Amino acid sequence: MYPLVYHRPKTLAEAKELFGAGADATFLSGGHTLLPTMKQRLAAPSDVIDLTAIPEMRGIAVEARLLKIGAATTHAEVAESKIVRDAIPVLAGLAGSIGDRHVRHRGTIGGSTANNDPAADYPSAVLALGATIVTDRRRIAADDFFTGLYQTLREPGEIVTRIEFPIPDSACYAKFRSPASRYSIVGVFVARTGKNVRVAVTGAGASGVFRPAEFEAALSADFRPEAVAHCSVDPDSLLNDLNATGEYRAHLIRVLAGRAVAKPGALQSFK
Ligand SMILES: Cc1cc2nc3c(=O)[nH]c(=O)nc-3n(C[C@H](O)[C@H](O)[C@H](O)COP(=O)(O)OP(=O)(O)OC[C@H]3O[C@@H](n4cnc5c(N)ncnc54)[C@H](O)[C@@H]3O)c2cc1C
Repeated sequence: MYPLVYHRPKTLAEAKELFGAGADATFLSGGHTLLPTMKQRLAAPSDVIDLTAIPEMRGIAVEARLLKIGAATTHAEVAESKIVRDAIPVLAGLAGSIGDRHVRHRGTIGGSTANNDPAADYPSAVLALGATIVTDRRRIAADDFFTGLYQTLREPGEIVTRIEFPIPDSACYAKFRSPASRYSIVGVFVARTGKNVRVAVTGAGASGVFRPAEFEAALSADFRPEAVAHCSVDPDSLLNDLNATGEYRAHLIRVLAGRAVAKPGALQSFK
């Protein structure tokens, strides 16, 4: 390991000051993406600023039909939270489906959202539920936040502090996972509020998480698995890698969307 300075600020103001003072500073939450990247020498920050001791970045609450989750909340805390289970049960299920026990006890919702891995689970929930990403500077709608592979609207030094999820009438997530890492090869999150249905797909898009318009229109008109039987996504717009071809991913999107609609409220995880 090369030399670096580790900081553990207790306030957002201190974290921002440290970021400004560092030659090439970066933020750390669970470290489950950042540390492997540093070990492979793909990142070599001068200063690592740990965000997990800042009280306002922790905690889970429901206020005015919004489920608010602090960015430094771990996947295990979300999975076990009665507040989350009561408000959006499948979000707890999604968090419990991430990685293994170690990953769930270190990885955070803020780190996962800020990182925007194309195979990560949370971005699909954040996008399908129409969540708001709250930072130390502004509030960003999920539709604007995710801009490409590992890319977001976040600016250098901008800290994700909280995610706010509107509570839908029902939501479901169906995931076809990698048996090794449990990352999604394809994951489809469906959220319904009144007649409005939003669908987000992770694991498959060549540009990261996306909303398949044809599926949303079909399900908004007829919320049954049969409604998506003839919907499709262009395989050429999908990832084609050692896990699955674009054609196979397109097939999985249709199958998983149908299964998600068939069992609202539940997580369904397949391998
Ligand atoms: C073996 C393994 C299996 C995994 N399986 C899955 C899986 O099945 N599904 C899944 O979705 N994920 C999976 N993950 C990823 C894991 O869930 C972590 O959530 C993810 O690595 C990022 O979260 P983190 O808190 O560890 O972020 P970190 O690694 O600490 O940070 C990631 C990036 O985000 C930045 N960052 C972190 N927090 C903030 C913040 N609050 N504001 C601004 N920037 C921030 C950091 O600077 C860094 O660039 C897996 C990881 C491993 C190692």
